[in-house]
This record gives sequence, C-alpha cells and structure tokens, in this order.
Amino acid sequence: MTPGALLLDIDGTLYVGDDAVPGAPAAVQLLQGRGIPIRYLTNTTRFSRQELASRLRAMGFPAADEQLFTAPVAAAAWLARERVRRIALYVPESTLADFRDFEMVDERPEAVVVGDLGEAWSFATLNRAFRQLLDGARLVALQRNRYWRTPDGLTLDAGAFVAALEFGAAVQAVVVGKPSAEFFRLAAASLPAAAAPPVVVGDDIETDIAGARAAGLPAILVRTGKFRASDLQASLTRPDAVIDSVADLPGLFP
Ligand SMILES: [Mg+2]
Repeated sequence: MTPGALLLDIDGTLYVGDDAVPGAPAAVQLLQGRGIPIRYLTNTTRFSRQELASRLRAMGFPAADEQLFTAPVAAAAWLARERVRRIALYVPESTLADFRDFEMVDERPEAVVVGDLGEAWSFATLNRAFRQLLDGARLVALQRNRYWRTPDGLTLDAGAFVAALEFGAAVQAVVVGKPSAEFFRLAAASLPAAAAPPVVVGDDIETDIAGARAAGLPAILVRTGKFRASDLQASLTRPDAVIDSVADLPGLFP
C-alpha cells in the first residue's frame, strides 16, 4: 500500500533536540522522490514556517516553506475558510508573517487569535482581547497547553490565557493546534487536491495519533522522541502501525 500523502510530525519524529533521527532525511527524500506529497506538522507558535523549514533543510530534509504546517498556518487556513478578514492577533512576533493575508485591527475584529505571547501579556492586553470578544469576535486558540518548561522553570503557556478569556467573556475557543481534529483536517486540506487521504506519522500517542484518528486519518507511531511503551499501553488509542523510526517508513510502503 502506498499512502496518498504523508503528514509528518517534526519534533521527536524527524529530529530530537538538534539532531535528525538517523536515516530520517534519506527516508523522507526517498518517499518524496516517489511523488508522495508531504506536509511537516508542528504545534509550535514560536517560529515561522520559514524558520522551521530552513532548520529542516539544514538537517537534510527536503522541506519547502509551503510544506510546513504549523498551528499559526492552521489558524490562517481556518480564518480563510470561515471568510474572516479582520483579526486581532495575540501571537509571538515570529509568527506574524503567517497572518499577512488578514487585516489587523483593534476595533471590532471578527476574530481574536491567541498564541503563546509569554512575557508580552499584561492586564491591559488581556483586557483588550476580552473586550473584543464581548464585541462579538470569535476566539481562536493556536493551542491550549497549560505550561511548558523553560530554562528557569515551568512557565504558563497559552492555554491559561485562553481559559481566562473563555471564562471572562463566556465563550468557547476554537483550538486549531494539535491534538484537535481540526488541525489534521486543515493539514489534509492543504494537500494537492488530487492526493488520496494522507497517513499521519508521529511520536506522541495522544497529540499525534489520537488527534489523527479523531480526524478519521490512519496514523503510524514511531519509537523516537517522547515515545514511551507505557504511554502506548495506557492509551485507548491504537496506531495502525508502530515502527522504530521514520527511517523504517519506506519499508512499510514497498
Ligand atoms: Mg512530536
């Protein structure tokens, strides 16, 4: 069986830390060389697709900027699909370029887009977003993680601020990042129209595999990155296949 396309998680699946997973660049080159459309998936809201693509290329992956599918790119795809034009952005500066097709406004935006603004949050900033929601804007969250680890300790992530805005304005956010099924549906929709349904490949049984399944897509788990056999056993999700690494992917599709 040959997949119609591949949606490849990047962190922990194609590289771990600063190093490519051994054999992964050659495997992806081989598969793309066979004409299989590829998208590279990540939830990060801290880098633009250009930055991520050049990082992948430096490791030997055949990654054009347009092949990167990030949470901000998913948000832009969602906004375009919903025909939203006027937005207020609460995202790191590095991802602003992903929203250049939209009009940035402070007054009466149609959508408030929230990512990990980190230290740039203030009461005034949060309150502005709150008032825009009261004025009828829809709340779009790039992700809703509670916290993440930084060099000086655990740090509040975007989810805590999304929850504050949901509570204050009595609205519910549309989450476009993993593990939402919407992320995988939007990634699949970004593929060439003729492509058959894609297969998702990732190292996280919940965010990658369960998310793909919720979108009705087949999914392959790799034993690299954050893979733990105990997580797989404890999960109700069953991948379609489990392989040691992306290097073994071409062998699955002879
Ligand atoms: Mg991963």
